[in-house]
Amino acid sequence: MSYSRLLNFINGSPMANSSGEVFDVINPATGEVIYQVECADQAIKDAAIQSAKTGFRVWSAMTAMERARILHKAVVLLRERNDALAEIEVMDTGKPWQEAECVDVVTGADAIEYFASLAPTAVGQQQEVAGDFYYTRKEPLGICAGIGAWNYPLQIACWKSAPALAAGNAMIFKPSEETPKGATMLAEIFIEAGVPAGVFNVVHGAAEVGQWLTTHNEIEKVSFTGEVNTGMKVMQSAASNLKDVTMELGGKSPLLVFDDADISEAVSAAMLGNFYTQGEVCTNCTRVFVQRGVYQQFIEELVARTKNNVVAGDPMDPEVNLGALISAKHQQLVLDYIEKGKLEGASLLTGGHALSPQSAPNGYFVAPTIFADCQDDMTICREEIFGPVMSVLVFDDEQEVIERANNTQLGLAAGVMSQDLRRAHRVIHQLEAGICWINAYGASPAEMPVGGYKLSGIGRENGLEALNQYLQTKSIYVGMNKLESPF
Ligand code: NAD
Repeated sequence: MSYSRLLNFINGSPMANSSGEVFDVINPATGEVIYQVECADQAIKDAAIQSAKTGFRVWSAMTAMERARILHKAVVLLRERNDALAEIEVMDTGKPWQEAECVDVVTGADAIEYFASLAPTAVGQQQEVAGDFYYTRKEPLGICAGIGAWNYPLQIACWKSAPALAAGNAMIFKPSEETPKGATMLAEIFIEAGVPAGVFNVVHGAAEVGQWLTTHNEIEKVSFTGEVNTGMKVMQSAASNLKDVTMELGGKSPLLVFDDADISEAVSAAMLGNFYTQGEVCTNCTRVFVQRGVYQQFIEELVARTKNNVVAGDPMDPEVNLGALISAKHQQLVLDYIEKGKLEGASLLTGGHALSPQSAPNGYFVAPTIFADCQDDMTICREEIFGPVMSVLVFDDEQEVIERANNTQLGLAAGVMSQDLRRAHRVIHQLEAGICWINAYGASPAEMPVGGYKLSGIGRENGLEALNQYLQTKSIYVGMNKLESPF
């Protein structure tokens, strides 16, 4: 379905608002408005809660096998429509087609497939106690809210809805107001696959709609992806009725390149972890620590490959591997960080400016930027930039780099490049981060739990444990003996 105006998706179909309030969505690669979106007003919000209640009653009464069968149909539809959905993601986010075509929809579908398969494995236990016994049931929570960021819109909607729905919950999802279409398309696919109306609703809007979700007393859980500061606000609001929370927040992750690493692979890891999705990835290794003995060699190959192999331009061009940043405002924020880097004395080796590629002259591009000779206390080494800006730092020994890598309040991801197996494991075990890679960077299969240490998050998405985060345990004690009482 193509929309000139995107509506909220409630109780199995698009629903018009009463307020008439709309907002624009801009294609970051052209700067043009591509469609308008209706804001969720009070009537939409009320309908979302009502439909989620109804959806929950029907969905949670099905067996896990029945739910799994339906979700598997949604997986087939997602894969069949890969290219159309990938194109929506390119238009909304500005990311390169060559990424969206093989990552965004695929990894979303993978998560639904994984949790659909896992759903029937959620079992309780039973135990005899003093001649009586108890058993436990794994029950869904009820209505869950999902709030998404703009960098992987469809994938985030899939990663949140997959365990929530597999466990028998209903979900009201609010995508980022900058990229609202992917989640709405997912809602249609769920309906087509046979998910009952009301089980997955999409509401549109900015912070105000998000806040409503986090304070509504009939919502049992909020799964949030976004910035640390927003996450803190969400948790505070969620405390009003003790909602369960999952928080997937920002990072300032380190990549440690030891002198025994394969340097070309280390350069690949650093480039993937800084320039993929034009640097708008939460797990990016924006602090690249390189051991002194290989520093020069690393820098030379890094700069040469960045100058020669990065192609910015119309993101729909399959040759393009660097897209546009999400908005003019975000582009300016990234450029401001680059200015701070220069002012604070980092050496700019390449990039450092906006780009206006011939095939997309009005897009919000920033050249892939490399700063060397960085110091730990520079702003660019402390704050999340969320753009294609890499800081390279030099180190001498293992213990020193572990301490420096951990010297941040964030703890989302970390990587080690080394051919010494013992060293790689020894070091990674000491890094304070929830998602770690050895001789790899960025891969995140549905089977692997992901989430942050410290200020980078709470709870996990994907992997076995995520299903449990959408279930609660009911204990049932059964008296087999005559009931004794002093009264
Ligand atoms: P953001 O925090 O500005 O917004 C995220 C979402 O929260 C949006 O849908 C927004 O409308 C909503 N929101 C804003 N204020 C709110 C409030 N007070 N209450 C409830 N909802 C509110 O983040 P963003 O700019 O969209 O995304 C970029 C950030 O997301 C980066 O920090 C990045 O690291 C992080 N991120 C983390 C992960 C992860 O898995 N850890 C993944 C992707 C992005």
